[in-house]
Amino acid sequence: VTIKKVKERGGSAISALTSDDHERLNRKSMIEKRLIHALDRHNLHLMYQPQVNLSTGIVERVEALVRWEDSEVGIVTPEELIPIAEENGMIHEIGMFVLETVCAQIKDWNSRGIHMNVSINSSIREFRDKDMAKSLLEQIQLNSCDPSALTIEITEKFALEAEAERSIIKQMKQLNQAGISFALDDFGTGYASFRYMLMLPISSLKIDRAIIQSITKQEKMQKMIKGMIQFGKSLDFQVVAEGVETNEQLELLRAMNCDMIQGFITGHPMEAKELEKWLN
Ligand code: C2E
Ligand code: MG
Ligand code: MG
Ligand code: MG
Repeated sequence: VTIKKVKERGGSAISALTSDDHERLNRKSMIEKRLIHALDRHNLHLMYQPQVNLSTGIVERVEALVRWEDSEVGIVTPEELIPIAEENGMIHEIGMFVLETVCAQIKDWNSRGIHMNVSINSSIREFRDKDMAKSLLEQIQLNSCDPSALTIEITEKFALEAEAERSIIKQMKQLNQAGISFALDDFGTGYASFRYMLMLPISSLKIDRAIIQSITKQEKMQKMIKGMIQFGKSLDFQVVAEGVETNEQLELLRAMNCDMIQGFITGHPMEAKELEKWLN
C-alpha cells in the first residue's frame, strides 16, 4: 500500500519510503516469519482475566488473552499481533491454538473440581470462512471439551457485506445451538453494534474500556453509561463493564446495576496457576 501511494504521488517507490516506513515493514515481516515458528512450537501462551459478578462476587467467567514473547522480535502485544495475523490469515492458526489450549485448560480444571466458563476472542470477520463453525466444533470434540464451558467474544470494526453476514449468522447460530455462548466485545465502539446485537445469538454485552474509563469524567458520560446498562438489561443481555480500574468506577457501576465487571481492580490477566491461587 505504501509503495502504491508513493507511486500515485509520482515518486520513485523505494527512495520515497522513510526510514520509519522501512522499520515498520521490517518489524512486520519479522513478526510474520517468527509467528510461523512460534505457532509450530506452541510458543504463544494464554493469560486469564476474571469476570466478576457484581452482586454475588462470584467469578463467573475468565477471559483468555494471548501473550507472545519472541527471542528475536521481543514482546508482541495482541494489539500489534492480531491486526497482522488478520491481514495475513494466520489469525485462524492463532484461533485454533487458543481454542486447543483453552479446551485442555478447562479439562485440567474440571479434573480438579474447578468449573469455569472461559471466553476466547475472535473477530466477526473470522466467520467469513464458511467452515469456521465446523472446524471449531471438530476441535472442541477432539479435545472432549464441553461447549457450554465456552464463550466467544466477538468484535467487529468494519461493515460486512450481506453475503458474509448471512454465513456468519448461520455459523454463530450453529455454535450457539451446540452450547457455546457469545458476547459482543468493545460494545459502544464497533461498527453497527445495535444491528448485530439483535441479529446474532449474543447473550452478553461488554462495554468498552474507553467508555468505562470516562465514567468519572462528565455527568453526561455517566448518564450515557447508565442508559447503556439499562438498555442492555432490558433486552435481557448480561452487561459486563471492561477495564474497571478504580473503586470509584466500581461503585458507580454497582449503583447502575451493572451485572459484571472485568478490570485491574478485581484482577489482572494471570497465568492459569496464578489464577487458581487467586480464586482460592
Ligand atoms: P479485549 O478482548 O477487549 O480484552 C481486554 C483487554 O483489556 C486486554 O488487553 C486486557 O489485558 C485489558 N484490560 C483488562 N482490564 C484492564 C484495565 O483495568 N485497565 C486496562 N488499561 N486494560 C485492561 P490485551 O490482552 O492487550 O488484549 C487487547 C485486545 O487484543 C483484546 O481486547 C482482544 O480484542 C485482542 N486479543 C487478545 N487476545 C486475543 C486472542 O487470543 N485472539 C484474538 N482474536 N484477539 C485477541
Ligand atoms: Mg475480549
Ligand atoms: Mg473488549
Ligand atoms: Mg479491545
